[in-house]
Amino acid sequence: ILEGKVALVTGSTSGIGLAIAQALAGEGARVMINGFGDPAEIARISDDLGALYDGADLSDPAQIESMLRHCTDELGAPDILVNNAGVQHVSPVEDFPVGKWDAILAINLTAVFHTTRLAIPSMKAKQWGRIINTASAHSLVASPNKSAYVAAKHGVAGFTKSVALEAAKDGVTVNCISPGYVWTTLVENQIPDTMKARNLTREQVMNDVLLAAQPTKRFVTPEEVAALALFLCREEAKSITGANLSMDGGWTAA
Ligand code: NAD
Repeated sequence: ILEGKVALVTGSTSGIGLAIAQALAGEGARVMINGFGDPAEIARISDDLGALYDGADLSDPAQIESMLRHCTDELGAPDILVNNAGVQHVSPVEDFPVGKWDAILAINLTAVFHTTRLAIPSMKAKQWGRIINTASAHSLVASPNKSAYVAAKHGVAGFTKSVALEAAKDGVTVNCISPGYVWTTLVENQIPDTMKARNLTREQVMNDVLLAAQPTKRFVTPEEVAALALFLCREEAKSITGANLSMDGGWTAA
């Protein structure tokens, strides 16, 4: 269903982004992947998907501009933009490292502005486009010790709505998907800090902190998120715009 479309998926060397890149490539899109990781592993992923790779660090606007040029030159301007890259840091606000705050805002929020402003003109010109932002349940509700992440994700949700209104008449939809806890390295990596911050064991963090919020008591899978992203790319989804679609096992219903 995506033959002839070009998709740029940021943060797609692992986790949710990788699953989305796989889903879009599986439907025939030409995909550019992005993110960090072991070069051999990234080469294997690129080969598997027939995808092009750009290693832009999304905290740097100049590297984002060069990634968009790279995509446009080699594959064509993106018809589908998935802003998925994201980082987390867990700390009380009074101890929050200033550099971590700046990095989280830059990667999780400001990069979404840069890719969007660069990609949207050609989508409007073609009167077809899909912008899908991976937000989070933390775009709707908060948890303690995640001030930067919660601020950035609430920002992504607001940005999504604003751009959706701007592009509404141009065949371009702009939405965010807000997963609850998805089992990826991002979640795995925050377990030690949460253990320290709250003086808990690993099992207590998994069950009493993470899954405590999620009524289904199971982690969302990257493949479930990818299936929703793929649906948003379909023609049938053209009236879904400016939405913040929760996939959180009931978390934000409570
Ligand atoms: P992940 O750590 O597996 O993937 C993050 C990706 O972003 C990786 O490809 C990584 O290399 C890339 N990345 C990190 N910093 C980057 C930078 N400066 N420049 C370019 N790429 C960079 O984590 P994930 O859980 O798959 O997270 C993907 C998105 O989903 C994030 O936006 C995250 O906030 C969001 N999310 C995750 C969960 C969850 O529970 N895992 C829940 C809700 C939302």
